[in-house]
Parts: sequence; C-alpha cells; structure tokens
Amino acid sequence: MTETSPAPLHPTALPATADALLRASPLPPLEARILLTHVLGWRRTQLITRGEEPLERASVERYRALEARRVVGEPVAQLVGAREFFGLEFEVTPQVLIPRPETELLVETALAAIEHRPRARVLDLGTGTGAIAVAIASMRPDAQVWALDRSTDALAVAARNGARLLDAQRPGGAVAFLHSDWYGSLDPALRFDAIVSNPPYIASGDPHLGEGDLRFEPRSALTDEADGLSAIRAIVAGAPERLAADGALWVEHGYDQAEAVRALLSARGFAEVRSERDLAGIARISGGVLRAAAT
Ligand code: GLN
Repeated sequence: MTETSPAPLHPTALPATADALLRASPLPPLEARILLTHVLGWRRTQLITRGEEPLERASVERYRALEARRVVGEPVAQLVGAREFFGLEFEVTPQVLIPRPETELLVETALAAIEHRPRARVLDLGTGTGAIAVAIASMRPDAQVWALDRSTDALAVAARNGARLLDAQRPGGAVAFLHSDWYGSLDPALRFDAIVSNPPYIASGDPHLGEGDLRFEPRSALTDEADGLSAIRAIVAGAPERLAADGALWVEHGYDQAEAVRALLSARGFAEVRSERDLAGIARISGGVLRAAAT
C-alpha cells in the first residue's frame, strides 16, 4: 500500500536489440559479434537483417554476462566453447590449449611429408583439442592417426572432436586417442611415417604466460616449467626409434627456438633438417627426416 509505483520506463530500458548491444559494447566489434551470435544462435548476417528486433531478456542477460567475462580477459574461444582450425570447428574448454592459426603450418607440413605414403601412420604428441590429429585425419582419410596426451581432460575433448568432425567410415579408422606421457604408453612396436607435436615450449619465467588468453589456458600446455625446450628434447630423443624409414618429425616451437631445435634434430641423426616460417614470417616449426641408414 505504501509502495511507490515503478518509475516510468525510460526509453533506454526498452527491450534491447542486437544493434543497441553492439553499439554499447566495450569490446572490439568482432568479439562482440562473436559473443552475440553465439548467444542468439544467429549467423553473422542476421546481426544486420535482424539488428533492430527486440531480444528476449534472457538472451540479453546471457550476452551481458559473457561480455563482462571477456572484459576481464577470458578467451573468446572458451566463452563460446569453440574455435575454428583448418576449416573445422573444434570444441574448446579451459582444459585445452586454444588452437592457433600458426599451427596450421604444422598440419600443412605434415600433410606434405606423408603425401606419397598411402595409409600413412601419424602420431600427434600432446594433442590437446585434437586439432592437429583431426585436421590431418580429415585431409587424409586413409591415414591411421594416433593422438596422445597426458591430460585425461584434454583427451576427452579431443575424442569428442574426433568423433564429431571425422567420417566414422574413413578408411584409416577412428583416431586412436591414448593417455600417455610422450611416448611412454605407446605400443613400442608401432612405427610412424610422421610424428608431429605442438608441445609446451614457453620458458617458465616468460612474461607472456601472464598475458592475454594464456592466463586462462592450462599452464601444462604452455610451459615445460624449465627453459622451454625440455619437451622438445624428449620428443626428438624418442622419435628415431618410433619412425618408419624416411619418416619425418615436425615440431612447433617459440619464435627464438628454431636454431636450437634444428641443432637437437641434427644431433639426433635427422637429415634435411629445416624450419618453416608462419604467416607472420616467424620460423615457427622445425623438422627433419630420418633416413633408413640413420636408425
Ligand atoms: N603458441 C602459443 C603461444 O605462444 C604457445 C603454445 C605452446 O606452448 N605450444 O601463445
């Protein structure tokens, strides 16, 4: 009885529209559009064609919540639970490294290495989302692909990505997702035509670990808690006994590690050791071939 009636609706309290939310967003426009299309289940073009349509209150609240989390730094890929890599949409959780565009170079180089090898066997060490293994498997339906991780959380994500993105009838069969610390739990009799890895290669004290998306990604996927090269040393050391004749090993590494990685490969008996530059011009991956005589 003594309650005052609600204040009359001010025009700004009218149902929000996509246009209004995007205009008011503190985020870079592309990020705001990704979050909003995610919440609304719309295509990007519908933000234009339906831009002035009043939105449901629940959608607006969900969008505002995601926007607020992005403002304090949470990665867009984790907020929407997905990231595109090699033309495929991978599920992403906070338990896996977010696929990066520069890692597509590793996939392309591995595909070139197995080009003339029918039913090639490929091993991906530290698969995370499964992006590398699944992208290779999708491009080469005949290839048999193994993907390892020591994180069971990551393996669950990778297995879901493999099941969702690959043809169940592919001649090479399903990707074999295995719980393993590098080569540790792998059948020692297996020989691979190509071994690939995007291992944790950031040195423990690197300030980048405290910046951007990296703050929200699993630390074990980013750093070896040492000089940044210890995972690559273990991968290079174990590769020769796992490679078929003339098999190739390719690893991704940091912008300043190419020379050190090439030296590790040469010292372990690899031939044709070289690095490849990513689209930013950074020597981002290094690899070599294990000639039959070198095993
Ligand atoms: N490329 C990632 C980054 O620097 C690091 C990934 C990794 O350590 N493998 O953001």
